[in-house]
Amino acid sequence: MADGPRLRANLDDIPTYVPGRRVAAPGATQRMYKLSSNENPFPPLPSVLQTITDASTWINRYPDMFATELVSAIAERFDVPANHVAVGTGSVGVCQQIVQSTAGPGDEVIYAWRSFEAYPILVQVSGATSVQVPLTSTEKHDLDAMLAAITDRTRLILVCTPNNPTGPAIRRQRLERFLDAVPPEILVVVDEAYVEFVRDPEVADGLELYRDRPNVCVLRTFSKAYGLAGLRVGYAVAHEPVAEALRKCAVPFGVSVIAQSAAIASLAAEDELLKRVADIVAERVRVRDALREQGWPVPPTEANFVWFRLSERTDAFAAACESAGVIVRPFSGEGVRASIGEPDANDVLVQVAADFAPA
Ligand SMILES: *Cc1c(COP(=O)(O)O)cnc(C)c1O
Repeated sequence: MADGPRLRANLDDIPTYVPGRRVAAPGATQRMYKLSSNENPFPPLPSVLQTITDASTWINRYPDMFATELVSAIAERFDVPANHVAVGTGSVGVCQQIVQSTAGPGDEVIYAWRSFEAYPILVQVSGATSVQVPLTSTEKHDLDAMLAAITDRTRLILVCTPNNPTGPAIRRQRLERFLDAVPPEILVVVDEAYVEFVRDPEVADGLELYRDRPNVCVLRTFSKAYGLAGLRVGYAVAHEPVAEALRKCAVPFGVSVIAQSAAIASLAAEDELLKRVADIVAERVRVRDALREQGWPVPPTEANFVWFRLSERTDAFAAACESAGVIVRPFSGEGVRASIGEPDANDVLVQVAADFAPA
């Protein structure tokens, strides 16, 4: 028996979150593009940087624990009551608060698989059991199978739309039918980390669907479209008492004064930021069209990334990308997710895909 502190046994086989590989150290000869974390390739806006500089003079003080100003800015922007908004350290932080608020040992959490890799980690840390429902052959959520997976131990269902890492988003009618079939005592999270990149008008808008559904919680983030991934700020919109439970489970003072101020400034600069999102969407369309022309069955993506189902060729493709100067995110044995980045980076990706040739 090893000495030392006794740790919870269910931590032993937690999958490790694999962060997108970082670009090579300065001094490397080849320019490397990071297309592995679905980050926004644009640098921060000058107005947001100025706000960050100004806020930094306050860092000897604790931030506003309730992020009052940010919460009202979000509430006003999306026309929801302020007490329906809960912020956290990125939407992953908020998602952890959601799992903590709903599920523990003996409880089940249903989500599609493959989906966002944080889900199995958060569920296992909580002590609850993951119920993973395979995606359809077209890389979409199998909502009927997810309904069929509900048991009397189900406490939470995570729905990721658009789905990371495959790209498809769920249309309104399908999501409504699904939500109407879920028992009202089970919380459904609609994780919309990429909602600003959606262009299909038929795709569900979580904020529309949550309004008359007390068991729906919408999760959004400033990390992707708003370009604040490094500052860690995201939020949930849900009815009381769900939003209140999330606030109870938050790490006190988790969202820094810099993150709060930058998020407020980003909402104020939304028009400018959404123009950049439109540029990324245009690149997404260009890249996917080029790949489909090459014969790749890239699923329709409503997010800022494309998915290559490569099976046993996954690692080889990722290595080929890296030799050509782009770092992508391989899921060994399954496929590669490549973020849409700078046009030059996207060109490299398309060229590698052409040389690699679809199966
Ligand atoms: C990137 C991402 C998030 C956002 O993470 P943050 O913690 O807000 O940076 C949430 N959900 C999904 C599905 C994501 O891909």
